[in-house]
Amino acid sequence: MSDILSRHRQLCELLVEYGHQYYVLDNPTVPDAEYDRLMRELIALEVDHPELKTPASPSVRVGGQPLSAFSQVRHEIPMLSLDNVFSDEELQAFEQRMRDRLKRELNFTFCCEPKLDGLAVSLLYVDGQLVQAATRGDGATGEEITENVRTIKAIPLVLRGSGWPARLEVRGEVFMPKAGFEAMNAKAQAAGEKVFVNPRNAAAGSLRQLDSRITASRPLSFYAYGVGIGGDELGNSHFARLNQLKAWGLPLSPEVKLKEGAAGCQAFHDDILARRSELPYEIDGVVYKVDDIALQQELGFVARAPRWATAHKFPAEEEMTLLENVEFQV
Ligand code: NAD
Repeated sequence: MSDILSRHRQLCELLVEYGHQYYVLDNPTVPDAEYDRLMRELIALEVDHPELKTPASPSVRVGGQPLSAFSQVRHEIPMLSLDNVFSDEELQAFEQRMRDRLKRELNFTFCCEPKLDGLAVSLLYVDGQLVQAATRGDGATGEEITENVRTIKAIPLVLRGSGWPARLEVRGEVFMPKAGFEAMNAKAQAAGEKVFVNPRNAAAGSLRQLDSRITASRPLSFYAYGVGIGGDELGNSHFARLNQLKAWGLPLSPEVKLKEGAAGCQAFHDDILARRSELPYEIDGVVYKVDDIALQQELGFVARAPRWATAHKFPAEEEMTLLENVEFQV
């Protein structure tokens, strides 16, 4: 038992440290796959020994603390993380768990989306005007980054059309397209400056700048993937909500599709995985969400993630050795 206790402590310490480097400093020192491996080991250990699980465990927390350099924004509706599946069997188990929980034999329709590798943001529109933008932070409190977000041309400052809720919170991912990332790194290299390790860290570092002129000079883009505040005034289909956001001028990934059941999700996964390198932005997997909002509400949440959605992660592309040899820039 003392071996288990000490391994648990070690895993918590490592994950807290790596999480801080990744979420707060935008400066990871290990590849995501290594972080994911340690997290899965921690979760497995806590399943076998539930007494080890505390509210402070990295397994139940979302993201990292917001940086004090920014004003803080309290999320009225928490911004959660996503659980992961890594195989077809785990995907089927995800679907079965939902059936068991709902106690009926349902055939689920899923909204299938690419899992963009960037930074989650919340955009608040009041009477159709963008008034506030915030990072996810620790899920409950994020950083206020409104001025920086205003420099991203893909994000409308004013919604198009009409019929939006008086207060509408759009959630989505700010990311750096591959072409912009490569051009920016080539320029930095030519000038003898530090290069970014990957588009995810480039996007996060660019967005969390105190000087919005720096953000404005970075090639950032955005795709919407959800609605927070104001969602109740929209329809019962997540997919229809995303298309409504698109009609109001918010960018939506053309890859987003409705699919039937785990088999439909698996086909979506295989198709996107086969085209991964051709996509103009980096993704680390795909996300499946139960499309029916009433079912989502019935299924609810666990500590850090909704029960009605999961990420299906792709195999890692980066290697430890690659990260060790690169100097990072924030
Ligand atoms: P996550 O990345 O697994 O999933 C939640 C996030 O997915 C959301 O916050 C959002 O930003 C993003 N997302 C992208 N497309 C989405 C879509 N269509 N719908 C909904 N969300 C979408 O969760 P997380 O807790 O932010 O991060 C965990 C991951 O971060 C780990 O799996 C690991 O790979 C990486 N990480 C790496 C290190 C490291 O040291 N290398 C440290 C911490 C975390």
